[in-house]
Amino acid sequence: MGKLEGKVAVITGAASGIGEASAHRFAAEGAALLLADMNDARGEGVAACLRAGGAKATYVHADVSREDHVKAMVDAAVSQHGRLDVVFNNAGFGGTSGPIAEIPVDEFDATMGVLLRGVFLGIKHAAPILAAQGSGSIVNTASVAGLRTGHAPHVYSVAKAAVVQLTKTVAMELGEQGVRVNCICPGGIATPLLAQAFATEGTTEADALALTRQALAFAQPLRRPGLPEDIAAAAVWLASEDAAFVNGHALVVDGGLTCGVQWSLQPPVMRERRTL
Ligand code: NAD
Repeated sequence: MGKLEGKVAVITGAASGIGEASAHRFAAEGAALLLADMNDARGEGVAACLRAGGAKATYVHADVSREDHVKAMVDAAVSQHGRLDVVFNNAGFGGTSGPIAEIPVDEFDATMGVLLRGVFLGIKHAAPILAAQGSGSIVNTASVAGLRTGHAPHVYSVAKAAVVQLTKTVAMELGEQGVRVNCICPGGIATPLLAQAFATEGTTEADALALTRQALAFAQPLRRPGLPEDIAAAAVWLASEDAAFVNGHALVVDGGLTCGVQWSLQPPVMRERRTL
C-alpha cells in the first residue's frame, strides 16, 4: 500500500521540475491529485500521463499570486475528489535580481507575489477545510536561500526566509487543530528554473539541464546533482503519516551544501593527520 493511499493532494508548480516529479511520486504512492500551474500545455501533459498510468489526476490553471485562482484551485480539489488532505505549495520562479539599488518596486512586488503571497494564499484557502476535518498536511517549498546568503538573489532569498517563518508561525495555529505545516529547503536542484542560468541563445532545455547537472555535481559533499526526485521524496514523507509528529519543521535537502566548507576544499592543516 502506498504512503498516500486514499489522500487527496494539491500540488502547485506541477508542470515542471520539483512539482512534476512530486506529481509522479505522489501518484505512485496512491494519492488522487489536483495539479496546478500557469503552463497549461505542460500541466495538462503531466496530468494526462498520470491518468494513462491509472492515477486520478486533473489539472487546473492557477496563478498562485492571485487569490481568486488559488481559491478556485482548492475548491476544485474538494469538488472533484470529495476531500483534501495535502497541499504542496511549490510554485516558484527566480524573480527579480541585481544590486539592491537597481531593483524596481514592481519587480519586488511581483517576486514576493509569487514566492510569498502564493504560499500564504495556498495555506489560507486550505486551512479552513483541513482544520474542519481535524487532519491534513501542508508542505511549502522554501530554499536554502532562505537560510543562508549567497545562494540566490536578494528578493528571492527574503521571500524564502519568509516562507520558512510563515511555515513555523502557521504550524503553531493549525497544529492545535490537527493540521501539520512544514517546509522543504532544497539546495541546488537540476530543474528548468536553475537551467535558465545555463541557457544561451539556441540551447535546448535538455542541454541546459545537462549543463546544470554537471555544474551541481560537485557543489555539495554528495558528489551528484540534486534531483527533483530528491525533493519529491521529502514531500511525500512530510505529507504522509510517517511524519505524523513533524510540525513547523524546515527540512533541508541539500546534500550537505549548507553544513559548511567541503572537506576537500578545507586547508591541508585541517585535513592532515598529525600525532598529538
Ligand atoms: P521549475 O521552473 O522547474 O518549476 C516551477 C513551476 O512553477 C513551473 O511549472 C512554473 O510554470 C510554475 N509557476 C511559476 N510561477 C507560477 C505562478 N505564479 N503560479 C503557478 N505556477 C507558477 O522550478 P523548480 O526548481 O521545480 O521550482 C519549484 C520550487 O522549488 C520553487 O518554489 C523554487 O523556488 C524552489 N526551489 C528550487 C531550487 C532549485 O535549485 N531548482 C532550489 C530551492 C528551491
